[in-house]
Amino acid sequence: MTAQIISGTEMAKTIRAALAEEVAQLKAVGVEPGLAVVLVGDDPASHSYVKGKQKACAEVGIRSFLYSFPKTVDEETLLAQIRALNADSAVHGILVQLPLPEHIREWSVIETIAPEKDVDGFHPINVGKMMIGQRAFLPCTPHGVVAMVKSAGIDIVGKHVVVIGRSNIVGKPVGQLFLREHATVTYTHSKTNDLAAITRQADILIVAAGKARLIGPEHVKPGAVVIDVGVNRLENGKLCGDVDFEAVKEVAGYITPVPGGVGPMTITMLLHNTIEAARELAAK
Ligand code: NAD
Repeated sequence: MTAQIISGTEMAKTIRAALAEEVAQLKAVGVEPGLAVVLVGDDPASHSYVKGKQKACAEVGIRSFLYSFPKTVDEETLLAQIRALNADSAVHGILVQLPLPEHIREWSVIETIAPEKDVDGFHPINVGKMMIGQRAFLPCTPHGVVAMVKSAGIDIVGKHVVVIGRSNIVGKPVGQLFLREHATVTYTHSKTNDLAAITRQADILIVAAGKARLIGPEHVKPGAVVIDVGVNRLENGKLCGDVDFEAVKEVAGYITPVPGGVGPMTITMLLHNTIEAARELAAK
């Protein structure tokens, strides 16, 4: 039996239509949600992500502002820009596209963003609140992953979720969000012994390693849900995930494609957070 394909593109379309309605309602009461995007350097992947985010903003009626800096920019200039955006009432969300050049301390930049405008959910205040179950901006990719699984009608309670990857922006928080949904969560990473023995126990397998075709059918329990977060560029220029899609779809019960899977849902959650930020800041 071939797996059911979970289309992030389709889900994102439905959610974005609802978000456009919310933006229209906010505009009717004089609030125009605004997202500031800070981009450093000329990395083509970062430029393409930023373009995608701005296009999505325009689609639902969110204003976006782009602040571009050369890769030689010094940290203080960047921090000064962020402080100015913290104080700018037209800006409700601030996103700094990662990665940053090595001479800039990523944590220092993230900690300078006002937590109430941190729509990426990376500020330690938001990370901490998420951990203890308080209201917070949830990080976009993990939130998108959980939303996809739920929208596909998959029951999470009591399920064994295995996460591959332990980064601060995907692996760690996605496990936390599944824990909140009452799953039993196992984390794996590059030092894990016998990865396949663990992943084969997963009812829901979340793959976020950034290694093309790391996961084959031998890693997957028949009927399992496989969510591929990875984005890798092959030598021929094509994008692929961390999962060998063609082979794994013959074993899994559900699977997400790359592209057209987690990516569109990540951006949708960014739009959602920006609208929430606008609503909350306007109510203050
Ligand atoms: P990262 O490099 O910070 O972390 C990768 C993690 O994978 C590490 O914790 C590492 O221990 C683990 N890992 C690496 N090789 C492994 C192996 N052989 N076996 C088991 N674990 C292994 O990357 P990240 O920022 O977490 O991103 C992961 C992937 O997700 C990347 O491909 C990235 O491009 C993609 N990504 C996609 C979206 C999206 O919206 N679709 C968003 C963020 C990241």
